[in-house]
Amino acid sequence: MAGEPQEDCLFCKIVAGQIPATIVRETETTIAFRDINPQAPTHVLVIPKVHYRDAAELAAARPDVAADILRETQAVADDDKLESYRVVFNTGSGAGQTVWHAHAHVLGGRGLQWPPG
Ligand code: 5GP
Ligand code: ZN
Repeated sequence: MAGEPQEDCLFCKIVAGQIPATIVRETETTIAFRDINPQAPTHVLVIPKVHYRDAAELAAARPDVAADILRETQAVADDDKLESYRVVFNTGSGAGQTVWHAHAHVLGGRGLQWPPG
């Protein structure tokens, strides 16, 4: 069922504590942890505890939690003292999405090119 934990989902397993992660923040509805393959000095993933396949599906079903994710991206940036940072939601395999549990990448701590590749 939408929103329920999925057995084969890596990020649901991190939420459940079944797979270790370097968790930097947690709220009632979200967790934030460092990406295992960082692309910048700060590379943190902010995810909802509920399972939705991407940010758009999350926003449609749980706009409250989608707002919590955005609030937490700023909190991650504040914790790492970032003045500038980028929030990315890869959506679809053509855009590089590999984990089908909604997540925001928070990237910062180095110069970021625009437009991105
Ligand atoms: P996507 O490519 O779906 O936008 O982002 C998935 C991200 O999850 C990638 O940046 C990848 O490095 C990260 N990732 C994949 N497996 C793990 C893991 O087991 N632990 C952590 N912390 N990050 C992971
Ligand atoms: Zn999941």
